[in-house]
Amino acid sequence: MNTSYLETDALGFYGEFGGAYVPELLRPNVEELEAAFNSYCFTEAFENEYTDLLRDFVGRPTPLYYANRLSEKYGVHIYLKREDLCHTGAHKVNNTVGQILLAKHMGKTDIIAETGAGQHGVATATVCALMGLNCIVYMGEKDIERQTPNVQRMKMLVAEVRAAVSGSKPLKDATNEAIRHWRNHPDSYYLIGSVVGPHPYPKIVAYFQSVISKEIEQQLLEKTGKSSPDKVVACVGGGSNAAGAFYEFYDNKNGALVAVAAAGFGVHSGKSAATSVLGTPAVLPGRLTLRMQEEDGQVAAPHSSSAGLDYPGIGPLHAHTIATGRAKAIAITDEEALEAALELSRLEGIIPALESAHALSALGKMKLQKDDVVVVNLSGRGDKDMNTYMDKFPNL
Ligand SMILES: *Cc1c(COP(=O)(O)O)cnc(C)c1O
Repeated sequence: MNTSYLETDALGFYGEFGGAYVPELLRPNVEELEAAFNSYCFTEAFENEYTDLLRDFVGRPTPLYYANRLSEKYGVHIYLKREDLCHTGAHKVNNTVGQILLAKHMGKTDIIAETGAGQHGVATATVCALMGLNCIVYMGEKDIERQTPNVQRMKMLVAEVRAAVSGSKPLKDATNEAIRHWRNHPDSYYLIGSVVGPHPYPKIVAYFQSVISKEIEQQLLEKTGKSSPDKVVACVGGGSNAAGAFYEFYDNKNGALVAVAAAGFGVHSGKSAATSVLGTPAVLPGRLTLRMQEEDGQVAAPHSSSAGLDYPGIGPLHAHTIATGRAKAIAITDEEALEAALELSRLEGIIPALESAHALSALGKMKLQKDDVVVVNLSGRGDKDMNTYMDKFPNL
């Protein structure tokens, strides 16, 4: 048994989940990456550069905001961790800033990434521009059509957006294309956007997002006199914002960790992305984890109206902490998330990303004790979701 939830064994497993399933040709790449991460990312030189960029480029620390009217409504003390105020509008940039420093240290000049809705593509293109590195982003054909503003942002930031030949699962196609490119160009750096993919990526991305819970601890201590909340709530697509928000609390058994999955039209509707509720252990590109699975062993097409959560597999750290009972999974439907987005807008003057609205909606499904201190990770802002909101609420 590992002593910490955050520790992997030598093969990169969290409990029974994880590992480094990669084509043999890429094995040196993941080994080189792990060695570089271990030797560089804990040095003072890295720490200084990373911290400076988080402060001056990303805008950290992000506030821990006491949501007065929302707290009144639920009879508990609700704090929102304002990742929506990060540069580029979500938490994703915490990770891309960390990985671009690592890539630069490794002498890499060509960065590749895949993106679904385009948020990770934008966060990657942003740091490539910052460092003057080449950037290729693979994106499903359909997603390129649907996500015009993010495609435009990537182009403005000098990224090349390449269409992955699209089936019904655009993000999976984009992932396959990116891995194919990496195999053909093993000198390039593959910048993964969530706590997914082969070991050591889940570990690296969780570490770069851990700044979220490090700040929460300190800010909560200043505001309430105690550093650990009773509950921490975050939405889970791949699981990077949740891993970051839970990081400092995994091994402190007092606080409950609530991982909120997207249930689409309903967990058992057949149109759902609630992997942590429905998932079965299986191998997705790069790792063993929970994923949506159909009877014949094919990966089921996920569904959620929120593009950032519409992913067929959660990362191995979440699979492990949910399987062992350390974290609890709650599923929220599209409808419920949309209502929660409107509620936050009207009660607090903050329009959340639809992904983050899933986490907010879980407040109504949790067993809350009077005066609980609850931190909700507000992973992103709602600008990108305005069309979805207006379709749902045409009569505002
Ligand atoms: C991408 C995204 C998510 C989902 O990704 P995780 O890796 O699970 O955090 C959640 N919220 C927002 C705003 C996003 O852009």
